Amino acid sequence: MKAVRLHDALDLRVEEVETPPPPPPGHVNLKVRAAGICGSDLHNFRTGQWISRRPSTAGHEFCGEVIAVGDGVADLKAGDYVSADSRVWCGTCLACLSGRPHVCESLGFVGEVCDGGFAEVVQLPARLLVRHDRSLAPRVAAMAEPLAVALHAVRRLALPAGEPILVMGCGTIGGLSALLLSKLHDGPLLLADLNAERLALVEEVTGGRRVELDKVSIESLLGSRRLRYALDATGSVQAIRAGLDLLSGGGALALVGISHGRIDLDPNLLVEREIGLLGCHAFNDELPEAVSLLPAFARSLDRLCDPIPTLDDVPGTYKRLLDGGSSKLKSVVELD
Ligand SMILES: [Zn+2]
Ligand SMILES: [Zn+2]
Repeated sequence: MKAVRLHDALDLRVEEVETPPPPPPGHVNLKVRAAGICGSDLHNFRTGQWISRRPSTAGHEFCGEVIAVGDGVADLKAGDYVSADSRVWCGTCLACLSGRPHVCESLGFVGEVCDGGFAEVVQLPARLLVRHDRSLAPRVAAMAEPLAVALHAVRRLALPAGEPILVMGCGTIGGLSALLLSKLHDGPLLLADLNAERLALVEEVTGGRRVELDKVSIESLLGSRRLRYALDATGSVQAIRAGLDLLSGGGALALVGISHGRIDLDPNLLVEREIGLLGCHAFNDELPEAVSLLPAFARSLDRLCDPIPTLDDVPGTYKRLLDGGSSKLKSVVELD
């Protein structure tokens, strides 16, 4: 079968590999229907930072059809359509035992610690799969994983009803967070991004208002209300710094981007204005909920994604994305 494997930094190959054997107990084999390219796939390709086995079939955002089921798998059968979890947690460390598998002490990700979704067939533990509505387009079902990441970040903010919220960065996670906020929250949604095309798309899909990261203009836009909550999906230390300066007291800033660089921070800024700084890592138990939201979000999600026709196009798409060449939020290869 065909698979797209990362051999080393900057070395991604489309190859013919052995199809996975029949699944061992607790596992299933999936025929992949669609798989999305994540910013972290690009980061790993560019830097090699998370390479733990060579080669490894990349991809951790995908959906597929169950084609074989190992012993002991009671709740899935051949023919089921499922979206996949990206997290490989140990289940035995103190973090896992305390119900926090997303901060497992030896957390790994599909595509890095085991073969991932840029392949015709993938073998996974059944615990990583969530059945989805059969009517969903594969490219939409493949967006369950990033939607769960966005849902986790939005939930971490615990926004009171009616509060204005600023989303900084309208890439995949920022854009999906904005989409969730537009549907699940009733306060004003403000959007900021340096990429004008992407910002316009997210504005159109979510009904959010674009703003500059400028306190005076944001306050004049909000009238008698104050901005107390923001979500950073840029990972830019300048944006995080600017976001903190924009917030009035009594709220929080959620950080979901992967940052490059350090921040020089006066802790009194957080103390005196009682601002919570919330790190958000992947997701905890939000994947089933994200999957359940897909049918209602399908039209919007479809507008945010850029379909890629075959696995052969994945390496070229990595290059194009690293060169900044997409005005959509998510490139998804469709195999079905
Ligand atoms: Zn991802
Ligand atoms: Zn663990």
